[in-house]
Amino acid sequence: MSYDIIIGLEIHTELQTKTKMFCRCQNGNFKGAVNTNVCPICLGHPGTLPSLNHEAVDMALLLGLALNGQINSPSKFDRKNYFYPDLPKGYQISQYDLPIVYKASLEVDKEKIDITRIHLEEDTGKLTHPASGDHTLIDFNRAGTPLIEMVTEPVIKDAKTAKKFCQKFRQIVRYLNISQANMEKGEMRCEANISLQVPGTWVYEDGQIKATSENQLNPKVEVKNINSFRSLEKAIDFEIARQTNALDNHEVIKGETRGWSDSQNKTFSQRTKESSADYRYFPEPDLPALNISPEYLETIRQKLIELPDDKCARFIREYKINGALAEIIVAEKNTAGWFEELVSELNAWVLATDENAFSHISPQLYSLAANWFTTELLKYYPNENFVQIKKDGHINPNNFAKLLTLIYENKINSSAGQTILLEMTKAGGAPDEIMEKLGLKQLDDNKELEEIIKKIISKNPKQVEEYRGGKETLIQFFVGQVMAESRGRANPQISAELLKKILNK
Ligand code: ZN
Ligand code: MN
Repeated sequence: MSYDIIIGLEIHTELQTKTKMFCRCQNGNFKGAVNTNVCPICLGHPGTLPSLNHEAVDMALLLGLALNGQINSPSKFDRKNYFYPDLPKGYQISQYDLPIVYKASLEVDKEKIDITRIHLEEDTGKLTHPASGDHTLIDFNRAGTPLIEMVTEPVIKDAKTAKKFCQKFRQIVRYLNISQANMEKGEMRCEANISLQVPGTWVYEDGQIKATSENQLNPKVEVKNINSFRSLEKAIDFEIARQTNALDNHEVIKGETRGWSDSQNKTFSQRTKESSADYRYFPEPDLPALNISPEYLETIRQKLIELPDDKCARFIREYKINGALAEIIVAEKNTAGWFEELVSELNAWVLATDENAFSHISPQLYSLAANWFTTELLKYYPNENFVQIKKDGHINPNNFAKLLTLIYENKINSSAGQTILLEMTKAGGAPDEIMEKLGLKQLDDNKELEEIIKKIISKNPKQVEEYRGGKETLIQFFVGQVMAESRGRANPQISAELLKKILNK
């Protein structure tokens, strides 16, 4: 039978602050040996006191504002008590009833997904289980790293939307420059809570899934150890299938935490789920309440930048470029920024060429730019590796704009453009010089073109006769010959026109 699917997400993201959450140890990119980026505070020695990292607070506020959230003031920290070898204090400093951000949201495919809360907490150490299986290693370098935990309402209905939510969340976190959020490096960890309910037996009320009248809810299952967006989607789909099958066979679903195995493509039982009561949360006595004044919040609001959705809409509106291409361009802040530099180079060129042409020339030029940027340039410098373009220094908005104007003015055709771009990726340079050097300039001189056409005509008397006898489709054959003879330099449209004129004489 078919069930209602209820999915909620929990995402932990490491913040790229200079220091850890409650001590002065370095955070991020620590290259030294294990257990050396530590101090008595993050190792939880008795008698030490935490002191709050305000850079992490600012980042959480910025994210909260970007996601249209409400800010709690005062907000406070709490101890989440549990024992695990990677947690030296025996408790994690987190936030319980007064998270720094609440009631936020993020839009996916025009649908608003409510975010219950975003709170600050500290990361644990890292356990490694060597293949021998007889011991476990602990590295505390990560202990105390600032984390933000984001929790959505249980309102997501399918795996694809869950995946898109995580992708958009990462995009925003990267735009705000608060984390690189690479899942494979563990900088961003997504967990999904999934339950299946019989239609009509439940309601969603006050942020909770509740059973109606005599009905009983099926418990939710939490899936962890997901290290890519693809795995997240697969893990959720697997759980939906597994739980559907179990319910169809009248089995009882266990409320538990399950891990995801990439190699086996399935989830597996890890432990039964704790409820928040098991953690015996209580206020952290060593940290004062966190008050955020409206004035302070305003200084954070000033730091908000244009976010991807707004940027995408503006690119479509201002540059009249295709929506799908705009989305690719704004995927990362630096690709979007580079594209805008490219646009201003193109604008400068238009103004220098023909001021009056601005209104009608630009949209065509922008769409040429959007096409070449997404299909040609990103081929060499893909989105996730776009920073390389600056490191190489071969291609910049200025020389790429020049290349586009050569194509735009029909000085070269697009295959010559690709050849020039390839040269540019290797050693940089001015596209017009590369064009001259490689002899790629399109033939715009009709004299030279006529010479070539005459040669083709005398070489192919049979085809000429057929063409004149009425087989007009042969024109493509002649154009092809001209392109070959000119080594791709001829303009195909002009060639076809000239051919017709000469052949019909
Ligand atoms: Zn420390
Ligand atoms: Mn957490």
